[in-house]
Amino acid sequence: MISNAVDATQKLKAMSSLGEVKGEVGDVTIEVKVDKKKKLISVIDRGIGMSEEEVKKYINQIAFSGAEEFVEKYKDKTDGANIIGHFGLGFYSSFMVSEKVTIRTKSHTDAPAVQWECDGSPNFKIKECDKKDRGTEIILNVADDSTEFLEDQRIQSLLTKYCKFMMVPIKFGTKDEYKDVPTGKKDKDGKEETKSEKYTVDNIINNPEPAWTKAPSSLKDEDYKNFYRELYPMNFEDPLFHIHLNVDYPFNLTGILYFPKLQKTLEIQKDRIQLYSNQVYVTDTVEGIVPDFLTLLKGVLDSPDIPLNVSRSYLQSDGNVKKISNHIMKKVADKLEEMFKDNREDFEKKWDDLKLFIEYGMITEEKFYERASRFALFRNTEGKSFTYEEYEKIIKENQTDRNNNLIYLY
Ligand code: ADP
Repeated sequence: MISNAVDATQKLKAMSSLGEVKGEVGDVTIEVKVDKKKKLISVIDRGIGMSEEEVKKYINQIAFSGAEEFVEKYKDKTDGANIIGHFGLGFYSSFMVSEKVTIRTKSHTDAPAVQWECDGSPNFKIKECDKKDRGTEIILNVADDSTEFLEDQRIQSLLTKYCKFMMVPIKFGTKDEYKDVPTGKKDKDGKEETKSEKYTVDNIINNPEPAWTKAPSSLKDEDYKNFYRELYPMNFEDPLFHIHLNVDYPFNLTGILYFPKLQKTLEIQKDRIQLYSNQVYVTDTVEGIVPDFLTLLKGVLDSPDIPLNVSRSYLQSDGNVKKISNHIMKKVADKLEEMFKDNREDFEKKWDDLKLFIEYGMITEEKFYERASRFALFRNTEGKSFTYEEYEKIIKENQTDRNNNLIYLY
């Protein structure tokens, strides 16, 4: 429902920029409301809305997507406006938790507002209604077996998981914040006295402009660390370094990968790489999309070019996925090599944290082996480090056997 609300808002903005919408775009914050007593969940947007004709066309016909149609129509002018929907099925999932769904909607055109109601059967009611402002309100009458979704906590955590970086602000109730305000008095040292005062603000659950969508040149190291904390609020260790991905040809890929300090206990994989498609959360199981060893990294990948509607075995054979995966592997190798060349001393210090990851990658991915064999290190009992090439030179004479094999003792 929220993806549809975001789509409706993005469409409105795109059409407005082309001069196809009359009047102001205004505040487009999407609102989610829960009425526990009446067992209602509403999703309210200020997007393009629908006329009666459009409700009949888009809502009544299953598997007919207005999103797809919009992208087709505007693809040359607006780049598709980052529309999320395309299968024309999402809306019907509302009946999985509802005994009745009501839509109240007013188009951005002069068409009268309409109300549509359906209990999940093939019958529906539609009539004009008194909705005044532009946009759509979807009201779910939550069924008795789904009342868990009426708990604020449940909705808040679903919103945080799935909508945290969607492009339009999403409000869910309000929250209390505190700030220090001057009391007008001075304390005994003559300093202005302040007291903490509570005030109420909208509870906006998402960040519509996450770090990975910004230009790398506009971000400082601290911004990357802050974003890491935003992604994994329960992880208190700073990452070792990051890689900002930003490709738009021959495929589209953005994201920030972080290199975590690998915990000795290997209780890894609680905080995983998150995959997004145009800022819509898709999954945090990226196995099959990136090589195994890269799943030890953290951060986000965002690519509308990864097909999301298919099985994992299909993904592994998909051409785009292969290219994307190779690109990421190359970027990781580039970054490591750059660190090695720029500051070998520092790289050697970090080696204990990098070793597991790099060696795992070398064992499992031939391409990565080729790159990493230039900066992978052997360390002797005195703590001195050698690249493979350096080490070879030292041992060549003493450790070549009679069959001319060089034996590494390690
Ligand atoms: P999809 O979003 O994949 O196209 P849905 O079944 O979720 O499929 O929605 C079908 C269509 O109904 C959408 O493509 C859109 O044209 C229309 N629609 C759904 N929700 C809204 C909304 N909040 N505002 C405007 N149009 C909507």
